[in-house]
Amino acid sequence: MNILTQKINTLKQEKNAIILAHYYTLPEVQEVADFVGDSLGLARKAAETDADIILFAGVHFMAETAKILNPTKKVLVPDMSAGCSLADSCKAEKLAEYKAKHPGYKVLSYVNCSAAVKALSDLIVTSGNALKLVNQLPEDEKIIFVPDGNLGDYINRMTGREMLLWDGACCVHDHYEVEQLEKMKAEHPDAIVVAHPECRREMLEKVDFIGSTPPCSTSSARAM
Ligand code: SF4
Repeated sequence: MNILTQKINTLKQEKNAIILAHYYTLPEVQEVADFVGDSLGLARKAAETDADIILFAGVHFMAETAKILNPTKKVLVPDMSAGCSLADSCKAEKLAEYKAKHPGYKVLSYVNCSAAVKALSDLIVTSGNALKLVNQLPEDEKIIFVPDGNLGDYINRMTGREMLLWDGACCVHDHYEVEQLEKMKAEHPDAIVVAHPECRREMLEKVDFIGSTPPCSTSSARAM
């Protein structure tokens, strides 16, 4: 164990702190984390921890979610430049204006949004449970879905709903082009193609499997 890791571990014990790290983070960050997982797994871990301080190595909205779920804890974000283009594409003030123009509509939010947007929402879903939860709503429920237009479009097609869709997107998933995919498929004809529903419709129509993080399955505990 190197000196930096030893210092971090000592500090964690002194402060009764826990480090939660997203899979997105660098290996050396994951190495000093107490728990590594996806946003849902990290949120669940944040909700159950008895540590006084949660150091959250992830993007803003994930750290905000940790705070919402465990409001008495101090939640620290080590890098304030770690934002999410999808969350940033839906500002709470704009959503409030949109809601005012659409009385009678429920706001359904994908968890990848700011705390301020969550506060304006009637229901919050993950990509893993969105179809199930939307199907449980009354068929004539009028819904505004934010912030991911691609995910909302996918849910509409799978459920037969006509939710109004916010024009937001993830800069990563929205970036994939069908031409790139066709090229790779030509180079690897036996490969199966999987995609997240945050990708554009034209991409999803070309893949073998559409899916997201399964509920509570992909997080892994780490020894301190
Ligand atoms: S991958 Fe996309 S949705 Fe996920 S945190 Fe990054 S920008 Fe946001």
